[in-house]
Amino acid sequence: MKIKELEQLLKRTPVILQSNPIALAYLENVRVVENLQSFLKEIDMPTQMKNEDVVITDTGHLDTDMFPIVEITDELFKPELNELLFKNHDGLSDHLFSQSRVGDVITSNTDVDVIVLFLVDGLSYLDCRNTTGVIPCFVNGATFTEIGFRNVIGVPSIAHRLFEKGFKSRIGFSYWKRDNKLTDIMFEGFVGEQMHRVSEYDSIVHVLRESKLEKTFVQIVTAGCDEIAHKHRDRPIVDAIVKRIFEEYIPKVEEIISDKNLRGIIYLIADHGIWWRNRTGDTEHIVIPDPRTNHKRYLDGHVITSDVLHVECFGKKYSLLKYPYLFSDFAINEWGTHGGISYYESFVPFYKKEVL
Ligand SMILES: [Zn+2]
Repeated sequence: MKIKELEQLLKRTPVILQSNPIALAYLENVRVVENLQSFLKEIDMPTQMKNEDVVITDTGHLDTDMFPIVEITDELFKPELNELLFKNHDGLSDHLFSQSRVGDVITSNTDVDVIVLFLVDGLSYLDCRNTTGVIPCFVNGATFTEIGFRNVIGVPSIAHRLFEKGFKSRIGFSYWKRDNKLTDIMFEGFVGEQMHRVSEYDSIVHVLRESKLEKTFVQIVTAGCDEIAHKHRDRPIVDAIVKRIFEEYIPKVEEIISDKNLRGIIYLIADHGIWWRNRTGDTEHIVIPDPRTNHKRYLDGHVITSDVLHVECFGKKYSLLKYPYLFSDFAINEWGTHGGISYYESFVPFYKKEVL
């Protein structure tokens, strides 16, 4: 069904939305119901029901014939989503599967021997949406490295939460080039020989092959598109990076788990997406210089200026710029950026693969 048809239908009846909740961005003035049972109790009450359009996102009862079940056939990731995301950022983050909930998903499924988490630095959902098993995850915070990764790791960290659930062993991998302060936050609790600084993926494969992986949490930070977006000779070949991650890195880990006759789950999430410069069909970017920042897409603090969204993450305030604005122009060898609000930056891939 098209969004336009759904709008008409909602005037007549509550609807169960079976599509990606991103469809909600296109609906104005709807009430979103996340729990069908409590909604049913509510409409059972003799009091007069409010006259409102109700979208039910609880898809746990698709056998019900009380309300029509609707799947949206429109393309949801299209340029107008940028404006809608900006306008209703907080409202949407209440209803979308978001980055800060990834930790809950990972720590709620622990009936396996090994859990592996790939943390990819800079990868848009849009750039790998055709990969089987990838779903969009909303970055419900600032779209830059430190905040994105901290949002995933959470407090207490995923490693701590899994430790409480019996994952007493940990193995961490990080590339030499990463910022040390951030690495310390992300790998808090990984001590001594649990932590490996590597310069290539083969070293990770080697360590994992040699390690006992029973009741082990493996956390791997890996390069996505962040670095090459900011500086690269010639336009980066994003497909090659995506292919490497999903067709080499992940299958290698899968193979190791199977070879050891263990059961495991492999997860993948990115810190933020990338807005690639001159993406086909985009409007040209607009530069609005601001001497208060060196960043292209955000300012520190809650600054009063047009076209920014105020967020607070881990005790710090930021002003994130909407699309297609930049505080300074792209350098000649710069192919993309991030830090602001757009569907390129604000949706990252979430991937889960069970090895049983
Ligand atoms: Zn990053």
